[in-house]
Parts: sequence; structure tokens; C-alpha cells
Amino acid sequence: MAKKEGINCSFCGRPKNEVGILIAGVTGHICENCIEQAHQIVDEQFKFDEKKEVDADFNLLKPVQIKEQLDEYIIGQEEAKRVLSVAVYNHYKRLSQSGKNDEMEIDKSNVILVGRTGTGKTLLAKTIAKSLNVPFCIADATVLTEAGYVGEDVESILSRLLQAADFNVEAAEKGIVFIDEIDKIARKSDNPSITRDVSGEGVQQAMLKLLEGTEVNVPPQGGRKHPEQKMIKVNTKNILFIAGGAFDGIEKIIGRRVNTNMIGFASKDLVKPDSESLLQYIIPSDIKEFGLIPELIGRMPVLSYLNPLDEKALRRILTEPKNALVKQYIHLFDLDGVELKFDAEVLDFIVQKALEYKLGARGLRSICEAILNDAMFDIPSQANQKEFRVDLAYAESKFAGSKMAKLKIA
Ligand code: ADP
Repeated sequence: MAKKEGINCSFCGRPKNEVGILIAGVTGHICENCIEQAHQIVDEQFKFDEKKEVDADFNLLKPVQIKEQLDEYIIGQEEAKRVLSVAVYNHYKRLSQSGKNDEMEIDKSNVILVGRTGTGKTLLAKTIAKSLNVPFCIADATVLTEAGYVGEDVESILSRLLQAADFNVEAAEKGIVFIDEIDKIARKSDNPSITRDVSGEGVQQAMLKLLEGTEVNVPPQGGRKHPEQKMIKVNTKNILFIAGGAFDGIEKIIGRRVNTNMIGFASKDLVKPDSESLLQYIIPSDIKEFGLIPELIGRMPVLSYLNPLDEKALRRILTEPKNALVKQYIHLFDLDGVELKFDAEVLDFIVQKALEYKLGARGLRSICEAILNDAMFDIPSQANQKEFRVDLAYAESKFAGSKMAKLKIA
């Protein structure tokens, strides 16, 4: 260890009194900060080299099998499930054919899912990635910016995928990326010469590059925090992109189009312009009118929609999926040796509150937490408790005393 005064770290140049430890080498010194950084770089490189050797296998499931898997976790959304199962099957079939002597080049089937927030778009994409055993990541389109602006570069999406693949580039290159809130980068008007939203269009252009299939230099840790980090080349040609968005107000665009095509029909045949059921008629030109550029829409040729969740769907979501919330809580209590039981009215109450607060399926969890939090606090310390039954009176009183209920009053 260096003991003399006036010695600097040969790597960062800091003097001994500014660092904790300076270790002497044959010709220089190194401080603990630089050791740590060097260690990180070596680690990353090892991890990367190791993973490169691993074969990136995925399960090629048939569309019916993919849908069966989706049915285990997602309630309803039949149309989206079928469309997605076919798109994903074709995508991975195309992948398994690549390299073979096949004259026909099959196009990629990136997907756009339109539907209100909390209707299962992310869950669909995540479940597909899980059943196929491919790396998966979620990217929020709203934080993306054009290169050079503050925010995340489009490339950062691939950093996340690479991390999800544990730095196995081959696996990442066959992964699935879910781009959330794609509608938020729409330009404000379909007519580019009027109120043009430059930033939105710029991000769309940047995203286009990724969807087209190029080699991208990806910083493995994302961001620009480690300027010394080695870039990793990722080819996006075989990555499946699934974009989701609520596209608020798109029903009006669809309604207008449908009604225009029905000129000459009796007015009773015309559709109500903002009816929720209009989503089933969505076509790519509606998305274009909403403000996505045609090139981007062209790169995401599969379009489907998700229905808003009604009372019946919410009730099923609470109890039916493989990892339904109620099943999760029962399991959690079971781990403490306590049998948790819900009265049927409690489940109806939870659904009513989710509807009242307009929180969709996402709200179910917060409401359950509000009701069960006290019990989850006390019960693990109560050795004799073998059963815990939640009745309506208990649920109502716990919910009324919760932060959520107070928020509503405020
Ligand atoms: P979106 O991406 O459409 O905004 P998510 O897929 O993130 O919505 O849904 C939020 C949560 O709500 C999910 O994690 C899931 O627990 C629940 N959920 C939403 N829709 C469904 C559905 N159709 N079936 C089962 N659970 C659902």
C-alpha cells in the first residue's frame, strides 16, 4: 500500500488524500474507486462473453397453444388473443426458417394493440414472451426523445432487452419489446403543415429505424453514465415489437369513417360516433389520422383492439386467471398457516369500487390492499389464528378507513 505523500492514482489522477486506499504497482498506483470501476467492466465483459456461447432457444408453439397459454392469464379479449397468437407464431416460424434455403422472405409481423389503459395489453405481450421463453422488456414511448435531447434515446429500449436476456445477444435478438403509450408520440394533426408536433414525429422517425431491422450500438447499462462502457451490437431484424396505446378519442375517427361510408343509408343504421364498440372496426388509416406516421404504421402491420373491462370481466379477473389476485392473497395467508376466505359480496364490492374509481383492473389490487392491509400486518404474529374470513362489513369498514377512500373525499 502507498504510504508516501504526493502520490496520485495513475488512473484517475486523484491525490492520496482524496481517496481511501492507493495500491502501488510496479510503475504506478491505483485507487479503490478505479479498482471498483475496472472490476465492473471486467465483470460485464465476462458475463457478455459467457452468454454469447449459450444457445438462444425458444419454444415454437402453435397459435392454438399460444392462445391457450394466454387464456390462463387473460380474461376476454378474444380477438386480440387470436390475432396476436397468429402474428407471434408467424414471426417465430419466420425466424426458425431464416438461414434455411427458403426463397420466400416472410415479412415481420410487429403489432399495434389499441385499447384503454388497464385492459391487458402489456399482460398479453408479457404472457406471450413467457410462454415462448424469449426475453421481454417494456419501454415507455413517452420518455423517448430524438437523439441529442434530454430523455432516453430510442436505443435505450435495447439496453433493457439486453439486460432481460442477461446479456445474451443471440437471445435478445429474438426477444419481444412492448412499447407502451405509442399514441402519446402521435403528432397532433394528421396534416403535417398545420399544428405539427415536431418532437412526436422525431421520435416516431427514430423508432422507425429500430423497427426496420438494423444493427444498433447499444450501451449495455443504458444511459450515458459510463462513457467507458463497451457498446454491444444488437440486430433488431428479428425482434418482435408490440406497441400499445389507448388512442383516446379514436372512436370518433372510426365512427366518422364508418358513417361516411354509409351515406345513403337510413340514419338509424349510422353508428353512434363515440360508442365503445367502434374499436372493433379499427383499420390502419384511423391510426394514421390519429397522428402516427404511415411509415411507422407500415412497419407494424398487425392491428388489433382490446375491449374495455365491464363488471363481469373485472369479477372474473379477480378470481379466474392462474395468478388471480384472490388466489395470490389466499396463497400469501397460507404461507403463514392461515386459511383466507372471501364472502362473495366482498368480491362484488371490490369490483364496484374499481368501477367507481374508474381504475379498471389495475384498481383491483389497490382496493384489495386497502381491505387486507391490517390483517396482513397482524396475522403473522398471531400464532393461534388458523382461518381469516373477510365479510362485507369488514371490507367496507377497512376500505372506508383507507387512503384510497379519503382521496375520493378530497
Ligand atoms: P394495459 O397495458 O392495457 O394498460 P395491463 O396489461 O398493464 O394494462 O393491465 C394491468 C393489470 O390489470 C394487469 O397486470 C392484470 O393484473 C390486470 N388485467 C388487465 N386486463 C386484464 C385481463 N383482460 N385479464 C386479466 N387481468 C387483466
